[in-house]
Amino acid sequence: MGLFFEPYQADRCCLCGSSESLSGEHKVKVSALRKIFGKNAMVIGSFGGAGSLRSAQGPKSRAFHFSARMCASCNGSHTQSPDHEFDRFHISISEMLSQGKAPELIFSLPEYEVGSAPYLDVFRYFAKLLCCQVAESRGPRPLELSEFAVGKTDRNLVFLNIDADPTYENLLNSFGEHQFAGHGGLTVCADSKSSLPTSFRSSLSLGAVRYNFWVQYDAAVQAELQHFHHDFWGKCEAAYREAIIAPLSGDDRRRLGI
Ligand SMILES: [Zn+2]
Repeated sequence: MGLFFEPYQADRCCLCGSSESLSGEHKVKVSALRKIFGKNAMVIGSFGGAGSLRSAQGPKSRAFHFSARMCASCNGSHTQSPDHEFDRFHISISEMLSQGKAPELIFSLPEYEVGSAPYLDVFRYFAKLLCCQVAESRGPRPLELSEFAVGKTDRNLVFLNIDADPTYENLLNSFGEHQFAGHGGLTVCADSKSSLPTSFRSSLSLGAVRYNFWVQYDAAVQAELQHFHHDFWGKCEAAYREAIIAPLSGDDRRRLGI
């Protein structure tokens, strides 16, 4: 067993490693989709570039599930409190933005005091999504991050930045107010000199609001990735080489929140 990661296993829970009662977590919460889209028809696709759109049956559609697995305990009791806290947090953030307030001010409010249970639950929710995104890319299970997600530790590794979703803003210019939700997949950032992965990032967009969240890794974590998780490491290295040959455009970087 590694210090920082467990090897990727398709038939194991991406948070605790259990092989029992597995199902697929939603990429975007059903309740959030219902709130945004109501009973309206939905299409799924990549709106920032190429790719076709396909229709979704409704908020519970399997098309919205991660193929990465999660066990019943992790999908239920272990992450229920963070799930509910995120709903409250998003309502507060949406209100703040509609009043023209900076979203980061939320952490100066007494209810989200840094280190408090509600504060940690918000970050546990993003830790869960990040673990799912890593597993979706067949990456190794990040042990400390997943333990934080299920409440086994209070040491928060997750960074968060909240901004306006650029894809929503682009569509706003063409279509006006519209219903929109999305996720940013997994982005692995690498050091431009050493080529070593320095952070795992993802994002969640609900309407005009985008949550960018990430973890940063130091040399010890990088070494374990390099030496013990060759498949994933190889994928990261290949993507790094591609990005050196064809660097991301400014639009791509904004779309990825980097
Ligand atoms: Zn589990």
